[in-house]
Amino acid sequence: ATLVKKLFLSGKMVSINQEITFEEAEEIAIEYEIIAEHEVKVDVIKELLKEEEEDASTLVKRPPVVCVMGHVDHGKTSLLDAIRETNVTSHEAGGITQHIGAYVVEVNGEKITFLDTPGHEAFTSMRMRGAQSTDIAILVVAADDGVMPQTIEAISHAKAAGIQIIVAINKIDKPSANIERVKQELTEYELVAEDWGGDTIFVPVSAHTKEGIEQLLEMIILTSELVELKANPDRNARGIVIEAELDKGRGPVATVLVQKGTLHVGDSIAIGSAYGKVRAMMDDKGRRVKDAAPSTPVEILGLNEVPDAGEIFIATDTEKEARAISETYISQGREKLLEDTKAKLSLDGLFSQIKAGNIKELNIIIKADVQGSVEAMKQSLLKLSNEEVAVRIIHGGVGAINESDVNLASASNAIIIGFNVRPDNVAKDKAESEKVDLRLYRVIYNAIEDVESAMKGMLEPIY
Ligand code: GDP
Repeated sequence: ATLVKKLFLSGKMVSINQEITFEEAEEIAIEYEIIAEHEVKVDVIKELLKEEEEDASTLVKRPPVVCVMGHVDHGKTSLLDAIRETNVTSHEAGGITQHIGAYVVEVNGEKITFLDTPGHEAFTSMRMRGAQSTDIAILVVAADDGVMPQTIEAISHAKAAGIQIIVAINKIDKPSANIERVKQELTEYELVAEDWGGDTIFVPVSAHTKEGIEQLLEMIILTSELVELKANPDRNARGIVIEAELDKGRGPVATVLVQKGTLHVGDSIAIGSAYGKVRAMMDDKGRRVKDAAPSTPVEILGLNEVPDAGEIFIATDTEKEARAISETYISQGREKLLEDTKAKLSLDGLFSQIKAGNIKELNIIIKADVQGSVEAMKQSLLKLSNEEVAVRIIHGGVGAINESDVNLASASNAIIIGFNVRPDNVAKDKAESEKVDLRLYRVIYNAIEDVESAMKGMLEPIY
């Protein structure tokens, strides 16, 4: 009967007993087979997108991947440039660094990979796609300006991702620089310098005079040794797209960061809806390479189309497999594929999620019109923690709810509470598309009461 319906839909009137031609049968069979194959592949992809555990015996040391965050104009770009320049040694073939979205420097024989797009926006948009791109964040704070709104955002974004923060106090060449003031201001965000009794590394630097850059690099190496970064180099490669474009002469070009395994020229890979066979690879110095080990950024050629930045790539055993994965992406849509890997939290569904054991932490972002309200809400909400679920305030700030807040909420499975503030238009649209639960209040008590009721499964639904 399904066949009849199928043929009917394709414009052929047949009865149950009527014979169909061989071609027609074949066509239908292929169609069904493809559907069946896709259904299997959805599971395969979901499996591949998960961060699987690896056997400890296969893991070897890998270089740290570092990004630079901080307030606008505090010198993120200048610092990235300064680091790149200090490290270009004349004996390097060509000597000219290519801008491929990431670069590698070497300090005392140890490598460090820097992501060349400054800011926590890029960082968190990758996390929203389920990819953790970075091990260490350099928080740049200008010594003449101190802690500013985006400094606080950056701290929250890095902390929510659970990555190490090293503070670079920049612009110390300026007469108005005040290093101690920056240290003092950051104590409020639990970033306490060693000479202030804490354990956060602070390095005073100047991107202009290059003072402190070497120390900063040494501190990155030190930190990465403490956190013991490892990966298995002997498996199919997997990683993320850092940037991608259509090059007139070379076709689709993507810079990928290999995170696990080793990528080889000739490997078949799937990246979202794109796929292909790696035809050539170039490193950040523009040199052709045959293999790329974990934490290495490389530019790759050979894809059938331009993939999205932040997309996860996986090397497959065969080109057929890579193609099937990309076809499934196209037919199913990535949102559907990622549904399971990124559960969305809402106050309405909170209680059942707690009961199901899915939620152990309730992540909340608070935005309010004045700092006093942020603090008051924070203190009251934290008190709601119980044995089953801990309330965590992953970010609190003054001002309208912005895109950064929504991205952070999406990447960290948090809800947003606004007190006497509204979302801006971009944030509003984003919250809708990312299904972030955003709630606005005019009375602090009502917000607390809603969260409390939701935790107990007694929240009145809004119609
Ligand atoms: P970003 O917005 O954080 O990427 O900041 P930029 O790197 O674009 O720097 C903003 C401004 O600060 C530019 O005019 C830079 O020349 C200046 N700047 C950056 N680093 C330093 C520094 O170490 N010393 C001084 N005096 N100026 C700096």
